[in-house]
Amino acid sequence: MSKKIPYKIYLSEEELPTHWYNLRADMKNKPAPLLDPKTHKVMGYEDLRPVFCDELIKQELDDTTPYFEIPREIRDFYKMYRPAPLVRAYELEKKLNTPAHIYYKFEGNNTSGSHKLNSAIAQAYYAKNQGLKGVTTETGAGQWGTALSMACAYLGLDCKVFMVKCSYEQKPFRREVMRTYGASVTPSPSMETAVGREINERFPGTTGSLGCAISEAVEVASNTEGYRYVLGSVLNQVMLHQSIIGLEAKAALDKYNVKPDIIIGCAGGGSNLGGLIAPFMGEKIKGNADYRFIAVEPASCPSLSRGKYVYDYCDTGMVCPLSKMYTLGSGFIPAASHAGGLRYHGMNSTLSQLRYDGLMEATTVKQTEVFASAVEFAKCEGILPAPESSHAIHVAVNEALKCKETGEEKVILFGLTGTGYFDMVSYQKFNDGIMKDYLPTDEDLERGFASLPDMAENEVK
Ligand SMILES: *Cc1c(COP(=O)(O)O)cnc(C)c1O
Repeated sequence: MSKKIPYKIYLSEEELPTHWYNLRADMKNKPAPLLDPKTHKVMGYEDLRPVFCDELIKQELDDTTPYFEIPREIRDFYKMYRPAPLVRAYELEKKLNTPAHIYYKFEGNNTSGSHKLNSAIAQAYYAKNQGLKGVTTETGAGQWGTALSMACAYLGLDCKVFMVKCSYEQKPFRREVMRTYGASVTPSPSMETAVGREINERFPGTTGSLGCAISEAVEVASNTEGYRYVLGSVLNQVMLHQSIIGLEAKAALDKYNVKPDIIIGCAGGGSNLGGLIAPFMGEKIKGNADYRFIAVEPASCPSLSRGKYVYDYCDTGMVCPLSKMYTLGSGFIPAASHAGGLRYHGMNSTLSQLRYDGLMEATTVKQTEVFASAVEFAKCEGILPAPESSHAIHVAVNEALKCKETGEEKVILFGLTGTGYFDMVSYQKFNDGIMKDYLPTDEDLERGFASLPDMAENEVK
């Protein structure tokens, strides 16, 4: 009956998804709308146009259309590096001596090294189609900036990246990849924007934060003719584009009649996790199947696990719309962790709603244990994982070890979001035994919560 499952399940070009899936259309409780940061009024299409691309705003605000056709040009671009392989982790299973069946969807098969390219090409495409000259953005660890530079180079769009200063200095190779693809890269906070100058003045010598870089990028986009701001995570449009991950994974598993019991992903702003689980969660919501979903966060930045579900600013400069989400407060400054892509104070609003409704679990892990699992994984599966992705690996390994105790043959699927070649300083710390764990105390969290906006919507429980 059951076919032997190969190490890698590929889809042919004909089998690649032609549409993105918008999970919101099938959700009973929709994520809360974006609010204006000053007036606290619901933001509509016209309100968002000065900052965001038209087509992307439509996607952002659409809670009812279940499928969006992927434009032909984007599908052609996807074909250069997709389908992303769905791998049966036979070697890891052997090493763990577990009866569990472990699968991972590997998104590191492109130069930028992560899933972020899936949304970068879509956003660049819509900007180009609108006749814009260029886009601005921020990048923390550098993966998003790299992905966007690649997409803009391909389409001939200008790309201005504000890179968090500490990464700019610590990750010169990421910076140079971006420059090689033609992007301009500015360390943030810079002296080029009002918000950058203000932050430099208030916090002399600061090495920056993602929230601050976002504010700078938004300011430049709104003040420069022919430019718009694009964001690599958190927004629902990004989760929509990333549904390609889950759709491909599901199509591959369906070929062999495999149904995962547990689906695991790391959660920074929530885009890869949201994309991976989308089609499975849709089935769960419709009552057609049941799955366990686990969001994995760093213990140093536990938005879903220890945050509040309220409206908050998406950025330190408080220029972006307010979003209702699990948040630690935009004033929360996470400790310098080695998974830069997971150092965000908030979370995508759709995932936040799913968590609030009890449809998804969240857990936290410490970076030293994460790197131990990363090294174990690298040794047996061959891929050197990104620190962010390794959060998912660690929880998958733990679940597989539980199966070993109970003898259960559970099917575990996790998202392997990228490779860690640009994170070797982090691996070096781990190898030298000097990596530390940072756990915020309740007082640390209270300080972050103190920065939450004071508004009526946040009073109601
Ligand atoms: C950015 C990034 C993440 C986290 O971002 P999400 O929006 O939560 O998916 C995870 N892994 C890698 C490799 C990344 O670059």
